[in-house]
Amino acid sequence: MPSSDDNDGNVADFDLVIVGGGILGISLSFWISQVTESRVCLIDENSTIASGTSDLNSGMVEGPFFYEPSTMGIFGTTVSRSRKLWRIMRERFSVPWREVGSLELAVDEESMGIVEKHYGYSQAYDDASSIKILDKNELKELEPGLNAVGALFSKMDAATEFRRLSEIIGDLAVRRGVKFITNTRATALKEDGDFVYVSTISNGKRGTFRAKYALNVAGPAALPLAHSMRVAKGLADFYVGSYYWELDDRSNSLFSHHIYAISKYSSKYPFLDPYLTVRANGRREMGPKPFLVGSPDYINYGGQLGSLQGLFSRPILPKLKLLTNGEFLGLLYGIKGNLFSEGTIVSKVKRFLPAIRKEALKRKYRAGKRSLIVGNGGLIHPTSIAHTPKTIHVLQYYEPGATGTPSFSALLAKYIIDQWDIGKARITQPDENIWNFDQATDIAMADLTGLFI
Ligand SMILES: Cc1cc2nc3c(=O)[nH]c(=O)nc-3n(C[C@H](O)[C@H](O)[C@H](O)COP(=O)(O)OP(=O)(O)OC[C@H]3O[C@@H](n4cnc5c(N)ncnc54)[C@H](O)[C@@H]3O)c2cc1C
Repeated sequence: MPSSDDNDGNVADFDLVIVGGGILGISLSFWISQVTESRVCLIDENSTIASGTSDLNSGMVEGPFFYEPSTMGIFGTTVSRSRKLWRIMRERFSVPWREVGSLELAVDEESMGIVEKHYGYSQAYDDASSIKILDKNELKELEPGLNAVGALFSKMDAATEFRRLSEIIGDLAVRRGVKFITNTRATALKEDGDFVYVSTISNGKRGTFRAKYALNVAGPAALPLAHSMRVAKGLADFYVGSYYWELDDRSNSLFSHHIYAISKYSSKYPFLDPYLTVRANGRREMGPKPFLVGSPDYINYGGQLGSLQGLFSRPILPKLKLLTNGEFLGLLYGIKGNLFSEGTIVSKVKRFLPAIRKEALKRKYRAGKRSLIVGNGGLIHPTSIAHTPKTIHVLQYYEPGATGTPSFSALLAKYIIDQWDIGKARITQPDENIWNFDQATDIAMADLTGLFI
């Protein structure tokens, strides 16, 4: 592993260091190595790549219908493009995959208005014709066990394992010369003169990576790392852990699509809505039961009291604002009867799936953590990026999710290549590449830079 002692003082060890080997960091390394001849290294604190949220998510290849085109068009567009890219990969490699389709349920007349609104959004994107509104009878025909006044049906939504997809992309990047260094945790970043220095700990030993540029895509740890170089100092973070339940085999006959139930809180706190999923292996699941976690390092994050430590680290004001927001806490901890226990999540789901039983909840497990970033105006945009001359920090990355990452990361890679001198263009034959960079990035750059804070 490189250390500052090995350097001759003039040459960077790498053109670019990527901190964080989740699906985003891996995809960025993939595109940059496809398009440039550069020395790229990716470091991750775990022993394998894509073992964080990019593994511990719900595995849904989601639709673009949540995204209002004029304000969140970049997410809808990158989701639509990426779904095509994932299907290309699926044809070429062995990938767990199940065509499932999803239903966004309107449990009452009021939520039918949200379904209609989302249908309107979906018509702005590539796969518009695969999305339609179902009335009560059409829904009954498709899912006899569901009770709702109607639904949005997104036929091309699927189930997969994003970790496996990330590993395939990672192998392709490594073949093009990207160095993956695992078991190495970044502790701080520093910009000094011509270089960026990434301080690390690996097996108890301290080291430093020196590069021309650095990309911080460390998922839940991205904000603390940005703070280490005084970037985004006014923002504070919480971490939200979630429990999910695997359902017993008898539940396989209860539903055969991903099911989202919408509520009036959906657009404000989307991470709190319950949903049912079909996994790529056919297993059914239900969740989430979310709860606050004090720090990204909190491993056993089921312990509520222990996890509170760290909630009051600086800056404190934005956190206090959220922690005194009754609506947010009510939804999170079930003060109003939401999601607090197995019983309440089951009774919530019972409203639209009467046959669900508490006994069907076979195994409870923890999903990936997400960071929740707050400024003085409350929660900030679910995907936010900070930029200095030699570093880029993706402070949180929920949208466009794992689904939209191939196209989103291509656009970010294009921005990086345009801004920074990270290596000369690599000349490749079109059939050498599984995905086409120009097609993936045929999106207005202003849509991406609109996410910069
Ligand atoms: C509960 C949940 C369910 C979801 N379900 C879906 C879904 O069904 N479909 C979908 O499309 N999207 C889903 N998402 C969203 C999607 O999974 C994420 O947007 C995506 O995985 C984020 O990828 P990432 O690379 O940014 O982060 P991560 O996967 O968190 O990667 C960050 C990496 O950084 C590493 N790291 C952290 N700190 C350090 C450090 N200090 N030094 C070095 N390395 C470090 C970690 O080990 C990790 O590998 C879900 C998200 C959550 C939280």
